[in-house]
Amino acid sequence: MNKLLIVGTVAFDAIETPFGKTDKILGGAATYIGLSASFFNVQSAIVSVIGDDFPQEYLNLLTSRNIDISGLEIVKGGKTFFWSGRYHNDLNSRDTLDTQLNVLADFQPKVPQDYKNADIVMLGNLHPLVQSSVLDQMETQPKLTVLDTMNFWMDCALPELLDVIKRVDVITINDEEARQLSGEYSLVKAAAKIHTMGPKYVVIKKGEHGALIFHNKEVFFAPALPLEEVFDPTGAGDTFAGGFAGYLTQSENISFENMKNAIIQGSNLASFCVEKFGTERMVDLDKTEVVSRLQQFKSLTQFDIEL
Ligand code: AMP
Repeated sequence: MNKLLIVGTVAFDAIETPFGKTDKILGGAATYIGLSASFFNVQSAIVSVIGDDFPQEYLNLLTSRNIDISGLEIVKGGKTFFWSGRYHNDLNSRDTLDTQLNVLADFQPKVPQDYKNADIVMLGNLHPLVQSSVLDQMETQPKLTVLDTMNFWMDCALPELLDVIKRVDVITINDEEARQLSGEYSLVKAAAKIHTMGPKYVVIKKGEHGALIFHNKEVFFAPALPLEEVFDPTGAGDTFAGGFAGYLTQSENISFENMKNAIIQGSNLASFCVEKFGTERMVDLDKTEVVSRLQQFKSLTQFDIEL
């Protein structure tokens, strides 16, 4: 089985949406990526850090999905990364209310020996120096490196972020962040500028408006499934990235053609994530639902015009 190495936060989140409010629940970029990638036939491991305030029940959930957590450091007496956010009525935008790095502030990641030859490395959202350090520890060149990040790191660690962006094959970011990173409003110009920063493939996530993947002059679009109900978009971007990376790891084909399928897989999994609060929907999701919704994606976009 092919190996996927995942880096990112494992966190407590407190979320407010127009439909309700949660106390501290399980969250974090690596958590969502890992749960999403677990729908593919891959061996995956998370490199991250938590405090000893993190419930065993959450760790059990990760291991029950066959996620190796030997690279998940537990700091004695430490507090787990905490993020809190409030969504606006359109659910497409949100304000971060609080980010407490806690144990993440001094984290020195250690890649498990077994994963130093991982096929694909998914650098999820966390400090860009941690993302770089993980790349430094790889003993063989991964077939593909994918990086996800957010405005928080553009605001507080831009030089370090630009250094790691230079080293990866694919970047996945949302539209607002692509604009912030490139200084361009047009997403086509933004993608072209981000190409010059290093990544050969630029994926721009547009929430309920789908996702675009750019490669040189080529572009492909995956819609988001029109859903009757969206409760909480938290983690949708990470779930998308986990589906993208998980599918490519399983299929061993990293051509642009196959990346088109990968962004459909990512969009498909993300469409489930938003249906309940936090990780709830990803936890009760089963594979048959995933496959049947892929069919809906196909019908949504298939047409037969004679040219
Ligand atoms: P998404 O909605 O895909 O952007 O991901 C939300 C997840 O990202 C939440 O579970 C948070 O714990 C996590 N998160 C929020 N801010 C940060 C940050 N600055 N660095 C890393 N992870 C973060």
